Amino acid sequence: MNLLSVNECGLYCKQGDFYIDPWKPVKTALITHGHSDHMRAGMSSYICHHHTLPILKLRLGPDNLVQGVSYGEEFEINGVKISFHPAGHIIGSAQIRMVYEGEVWLFTGDYKLSVDGVSQPYELVKCDHFITESTFGLPVYNFPTNQSIYESINAWWQENAKEGVNTVLLGYALGKAQNILAHADKSIGDVFLHGAVDNVNQALTEVGYTFAGTRITADTRRDAIRGALIVAPPSAMDTPWLRTLKPYRIAMCSGWMQLRGARRRRGVDRGFVLSDHCDWAQLNQAVRDTEAKQVYVTHGYEHNFSKWVQDEYHIGASIFKTLYNDAEEENV
Ligand SMILES: [Zn+2]
Ligand SMILES: [Zn+2]
Repeated sequence: MNLLSVNECGLYCKQGDFYIDPWKPVKTALITHGHSDHMRAGMSSYICHHHTLPILKLRLGPDNLVQGVSYGEEFEINGVKISFHPAGHIIGSAQIRMVYEGEVWLFTGDYKLSVDGVSQPYELVKCDHFITESTFGLPVYNFPTNQSIYESINAWWQENAKEGVNTVLLGYALGKAQNILAHADKSIGDVFLHGAVDNVNQALTEVGYTFAGTRITADTRRDAIRGALIVAPPSAMDTPWLRTLKPYRIAMCSGWMQLRGARRRRGVDRGFVLSDHCDWAQLNQAVRDTEAKQVYVTHGYEHNFSKWVQDEYHIGASIFKTLYNDAEEENV
């Protein structure tokens, strides 16, 4: 009997009578991280990592019944031993480990093996049953190192600043924005924020994080913004707000920027392949390193990746059909 299965409400643990990242209201929801496809409103109670608490409050309101846990802390629900482990995706993101009758199950949520210097780095957790996302589960996704991306971003900002032109970077407000801000070379110029980004940053100060940047408000004098770096969510594209920041050059920061034509389709000047998900090599490394005997693939290229895992590693692989989608372009 499988400990976990998918039903109309989400990923369900029958023995523990709880859900992980459910998409319909349920009694008990274990939450891997604060992106909107994984953390939804309407659950009777939530269990998440401590650093996801302020995000939950910001996005779902202050009146939810929420319990925060630490990485590695073990607790039990109806005989199922549970612990959260760093997923390296965004601040507070967790893989969830469950043990029952000697078998170890692991749900990754969203994750990456590369280190972003902001979120707690991914922890390898060995398991028997490995449930992995596959957002970038095609060989074409072969991301450059984060360090090289940070350097390209700063070099471009420097170039634009020299001409007195602003640099607008689009990235989702939770995760990508903090990743960008932590590595921006502040000696180049001033850093400004869209309100959605500042809201997340403010929430995260509650759990000890601080990020550079001044919120742009109606009162902000636009002539004081020259050669600056401005971080905004993708939804800021083509808005009146954005037009007030002219002259600017604009870039999208996303794993999708690796695909030919993606930058042009988004109508931006540059695309930086900065991702908070595993690329193809990282997904493969995770499958091998966990030493799982059974793999279940969720959101992304699940058909492709599960077939690959079967053929390449000769272990069982199947698909968990979920309603998660990549959150690379969401707004908080
Ligand atoms: Zn996510
Ligand atoms: Zn996801």
